[in-house]
Amino acid sequence: MKKHDQDFMKRQNRLTVFEIIKSNQPISRAAIAKQTGMSPTTISRIVGELTEQGYLLDSDQVSGGLGRKSTLIGIVNASVLSIGIDLDRSLMSIGIVDLQGKLVCSGKYPRTPDESPDTTLIRISEAIEQLMDQQELDRTRIVGIGVGLPGIVNNERGIVVFSVQLGWKNVSLAERLKELTGYEITVDNELKVRALGEHLKGVAVGSKRTALLGFGQGVGSAIILDGEIYRGVMNSAGEIGHTTVDPSGMMCECGKAGCLQTYININSLLSEANRIRPIGTIEELFEAKQAGEQWAIHLIDRALMYMAITINNIVCMYNPDSVILSGELVDKFPYIHDEVEKIYLSRFLWEPLRDSFVFHRSKLNENGVMIGSGLLSQNRFFALE
Ligand SMILES: [Zn+2]
Repeated sequence: MKKHDQDFMKRQNRLTVFEIIKSNQPISRAAIAKQTGMSPTTISRIVGELTEQGYLLDSDQVSGGLGRKSTLIGIVNASVLSIGIDLDRSLMSIGIVDLQGKLVCSGKYPRTPDESPDTTLIRISEAIEQLMDQQELDRTRIVGIGVGLPGIVNNERGIVVFSVQLGWKNVSLAERLKELTGYEITVDNELKVRALGEHLKGVAVGSKRTALLGFGQGVGSAIILDGEIYRGVMNSAGEIGHTTVDPSGMMCECGKAGCLQTYININSLLSEANRIRPIGTIEELFEAKQAGEQWAIHLIDRALMYMAITINNIVCMYNPDSVILSGELVDKFPYIHDEVEKIYLSRFLWEPLRDSFVFHRSKLNENGVMIGSGLLSQNRFFALE
């Protein structure tokens, strides 16, 4: 094996061991070896390193089977913290995340849609300073900052390639935010970090193949295979919102006609609604449906039908064991989950795959991107260190 590959393996092993301890603590060395298939020597070396660095501690001796005593290993929870950021068109949410994916504290900050990248990043770094001051945190415990945002992100270089929602193109986010804060920066697409968050600490813990769908300002998906985010060549795998449903359909903001998202996303629903009468918000549209207005019932029912069709397509392509519904529409109107499941999935799901997956609603909800990006930043720290 080449030196480079050996290093990579070492880092991956370290991360795997740490992940298992985090989710199963207190746990014995033997149990870790059994779960990972690594040798006891490797486990002892990794545990030794992590203990020396202050991330792990030996808890009390307990009797194992056959009256043997074995030491259990636990996590020093407060040893590592990271900052998770959910950066969206008109709102930024910033939180401090601990090793278990819990939010120590968080804040929400409005953003004007045409704000320049530099202004946004300066405001973010100021908000982080404030949060740390309020909590009187030991800054050396922060191992990095993770940022999740809508759009195509070059996660390796930390560049926002293209984000319609933010109005950004080729922004070197990681480089600039590191200059401002001094911390290592991880940047990724919001649905990918949200899926990671649900997989590590939310509704899909233990899932081998997770598919997360986001329905809100846009339409998208993310896939987690064996614990890894499925990325594709440009880290844009999962951008189903721009798959073509009807080549002679409505115009999409991307410049193509009949994209899937034109039947589901909030802006499209509002612009369709405004052909009938002035409707300012998505809440007003749902109220019109509630009041029995036929056109509103039609628009929303059609959106729910396309959600079910999307789920069927994803399930046919990836054969996941878990499907998670998330996004602004589902957060605001939780009954969407049940209605899609009861009314539409029974009509549109391919029969052989009917019982092949569990259909969840997001557990981390509006905190999902903060928690997921915070955890991604911790993963990077433990893998690289
Ligand atoms: Zn499109």
